Amino acid sequence: MGASPTIAAELAAAIGTTPMVRLREASALTGCDVLAKLESANPGGSIKDRTALGLVLDAERRGLLQRGGTIVEGTAGNTGIGLALLAASRGYRTIITMPQTQSREKIDALRVTGAEVRLVPAVPYANQDHYAHVARRLAEAMNAADPGSAWFANQFDNTANRDFHARTTGVEIWEQTAGRVDGFVCATGTGGTLAGVGQALKQFKPGVCIALADPAGSALANYVTTGELKAEGGSITEGIGSSRITANFDGAPIDLAWSIHDSESLPWVHALMVREGLNVGGSSGVNVAGAVRLAQQLGPGHTVVTVLADAGTRYQSKLFNPAFLHAKGLPVPKWLEAAFPQE
Ligand code: PMP
Repeated sequence: MGASPTIAAELAAAIGTTPMVRLREASALTGCDVLAKLESANPGGSIKDRTALGLVLDAERRGLLQRGGTIVEGTAGNTGIGLALLAASRGYRTIITMPQTQSREKIDALRVTGAEVRLVPAVPYANQDHYAHVARRLAEAMNAADPGSAWFANQFDNTANRDFHARTTGVEIWEQTAGRVDGFVCATGTGGTLAGVGQALKQFKPGVCIALADPAGSALANYVTTGELKAEGGSITEGIGSSRITANFDGAPIDLAWSIHDSESLPWVHALMVREGLNVGGSSGVNVAGAVRLAQQLGPGHTVVTVLADAGTRYQSKLFNPAFLHAKGLPVPKWLEAAFPQE
């Protein structure tokens, strides 16, 4: 994006076009090329910078967001960070509602952007106090008092989210693999990444296999395989999993789905850190576990792509904290115990 290949004229032009990295261990294990887009390379540190930019550009084009206006959004954190940085760059205010269960690191990262952060109790979507409903009502109240003053970004049900992934993430994967991609897999929160990339890749290559890696506690894997929205168990991952079909997820071209437990995904987070130098968050562990399953399903010689959605530093106090992991009954590698000896 942007006119110059080397100079981004503003923040928006520095979003996307992320590196693609070959995952050595996942590739060796499966005999496939397992590749991942390093989305922590985005300026806000996550794949959700793309969502934020896609939503903002669409709102500007529709005349819903004017200079000095306020962006209001409910988020697990990363979309809020992306929106707040774009707001700083483009002359908007930001108000973010967020469940108070999210990592301290994400809450702090958001606070320093200048956004107004309102933490709310974590409740199911069916409850009117869910963070997305609180954000929508807040924007409605602001617009009732001062028409046009606020815009509810609505990342879950505003399909400008998946459209932007189709145009950027999907096209980048096609170009970076020179069309060799045989399968794409990731977890979903809004569904924007999976639906957008799935849509784009199926257009380029109808035989490409699109798979959902769903964390335990989410209802989507069951929905894809049996048609029933049913969840079992739970997960320490953040930003992924869903109890409902969002507008972005609806109609996504998904061929396969698996439910992935933390005991399968977390070892990938730790292994990627110490054996490949890749610092990734919990959702990326689910994505890589899913990529290994997809590669095993397709068989040796195939090219499987996923995304590393954000960095582990955003969850330092959880994913790399032996006391936290022990309390959750999750495996703790020896090197991590040694790095943080218990008092
Ligand atoms: N991983 C992380 C770390 C996220 O913050 C999110 C978004 N909440 C996702 C994955 C899911 O992406 P999407 O909303 O495009 O489904």
